[in-house]
Amino acid sequence: MCGIVGYIGNKEAYPIIIKGLKRLEYRGYDSAGVALLSNDSLNVYKKQGKVANLEAYSGDLDTSGTSGIGHTRWATHGAPNDTNAHPHYSESESIAVIHNGIIENYDAIRKQLLSKGYTFRSDTDTEVLCYLIEDIQKNAGTKLGESVRLALQQVVGAYALVVISKKEPNKLIAARKSSPLVVGIGDEGDFYLASDATPIVEYTRQVVYLDDEEIAVIKRGEELKIYGIDDIQKTPYVQELELHLEALEKGGYDHFMLKEIHEQPRSIEDCFRGRLNAEKGRVSLGGIREYEQKLINANRVIMIACGTSWHACLVGEYLFEDLARINVEVEYASEFRYRNPIIGENDIVIAVSQSGETADTLAALELAKSRGATILGICNVVGSSISRITDAGSYTHAGPEIGVASTKAFTAQVTVLTLMALSLANQKGTLSSTKFRGMLSELEAIPAKVKKVLESNQQIEYISGEYQGASNALYLGRGSSFPVALEGALKLKEISYIHAEGYPAAEMKHGPIALIDEEMPVFVVATKGMSYEKVVSNIQEVKARKGKIIAIVTEGDEQVREIADHVIEIPETDEHLVPLLATIPFQLLSYRIAVMRGCNVDQPRNLAKSVTVE
Ligand code: GLU
Repeated sequence: MCGIVGYIGNKEAYPIIIKGLKRLEYRGYDSAGVALLSNDSLNVYKKQGKVANLEAYSGDLDTSGTSGIGHTRWATHGAPNDTNAHPHYSESESIAVIHNGIIENYDAIRKQLLSKGYTFRSDTDTEVLCYLIEDIQKNAGTKLGESVRLALQQVVGAYALVVISKKEPNKLIAARKSSPLVVGIGDEGDFYLASDATPIVEYTRQVVYLDDEEIAVIKRGEELKIYGIDDIQKTPYVQELELHLEALEKGGYDHFMLKEIHEQPRSIEDCFRGRLNAEKGRVSLGGIREYEQKLINANRVIMIACGTSWHACLVGEYLFEDLARINVEVEYASEFRYRNPIIGENDIVIAVSQSGETADTLAALELAKSRGATILGICNVVGSSISRITDAGSYTHAGPEIGVASTKAFTAQVTVLTLMALSLANQKGTLSSTKFRGMLSELEAIPAKVKKVLESNQQIEYISGEYQGASNALYLGRGSSFPVALEGALKLKEISYIHAEGYPAAEMKHGPIALIDEEMPVFVVATKGMSYEKVVSNIQEVKARKGKIIAIVTEGDEQVREIADHVIEIPETDEHLVPLLATIPFQLLSYRIAVMRGCNVDQPRNLAKSVTVE
């Protein structure tokens, strides 16, 4: 987490950095800060809270200068206050550093520096690194780039960092390991640096994604130079950005989350564009075509992810097993990597991550790779770390997701997993051709059906009003609607701070039923399908205990309508595709409830979007 921005060139740095930080605020908003170099002085301004606080504070100060760095923080070491905010000065205040990641051995380095007589100002791991760079420079007489390189050789952990020094005013030094960093190359000898391309897109389309253990030496008006941490020079790989500016704006919606919810008919369609042709009975995911036979023959497929992406994997498990009869296990990346898992050459690990930077997922992939497994990725952010380390993969093409709570990225992940399962089932012959073709047509019809679900907005607003005061909520579902229940509960927790639990409907009686009283809203996916009658019985059990039932039902359903307090209809579809529709009302409900409770929907407390720390 944490967003970092840098600029060096002929333009004024401050407005570029502030604008960039606002774009990256989804990565953390505990504090924001800038370091600006003007007339031989290096000024650091930083404030707890959002970028807007920093702007208000620095408004009357000297913000001139044509080079600078900026940071928006998600605290890992040290409280989220002004002192711990980045940038951090070196002891003499001639160097300043911004950092995204964790210096794991910071304590050992700190002790070593304390014994040399240094005293620290903050509680962060980052400040230690900044002091270390200056200490090396003092003792070895090395230039800034070399000092950073030598310092990083001592560092254990993850970093994306940018260093600025008033003694070498025409350069910025940047480096990364496990946290993302992009360099934008402007056409006037100027350079932009950022955690992702969103702060860069309006200035240039030429970018270089730094790889792990690479150091960029960026000099105003000169060519970009990249070195390995072993000092071997590398040729920068310049790529053309595909991102468009409009995708980064709210487009008339009150919040990014609402815009992203409403984008789903388009994002789902973008996801299967060129991959699905129902008329011709074809589905093909170019990125993984070469690996399909391997997937069919695999000993097992392990899907790894965190948070919402983990829920998408659970849907994927149902689809792969039921449609293609392929053995799937779903794992939390953080648990998998520390469990000494049994993985071999005949296993395939599929990592799912919106950002493609999730630290635990990346580490789990590396572990699987080291044990000989084939590794595949499903990510949204093009050029992200996961997409670069995997053997092959598929992008979800959902477009930038800025709201911290994931919505359209989830449905796009489920869409990719559905396409994969269908393609594998077709090749393996586990689906009749009529069923296969029928499912392709149904999938093609999903965007229009999502549009229809989005029309229930008014009814959802009413239901939200009824339950906005709840302090607990239960979400139930069976089969592939169980992960929908988990995702519904997670959305409510994340943005409205109401405690919510997702459960398989039949498990309710093994515990959570004890919580049900007349205050408790119970959200149930009760669409037509194999376990419909069973879910109806579960609803009766809630009703008998006076719980309030809000059910998502198939259009025209009468039975549940009679017993539930509220029903939200979704269009009929193939049972396997229900998650793509049933998720939508839960997203809208959480959104409306959070707005009614006055919560910050796009930037919920304590959360950040791209979880680049373990
Ligand atoms: N470890 C640094 C801090 O706490 C950076 C945190 C991050 O990148 O998430 O300030």
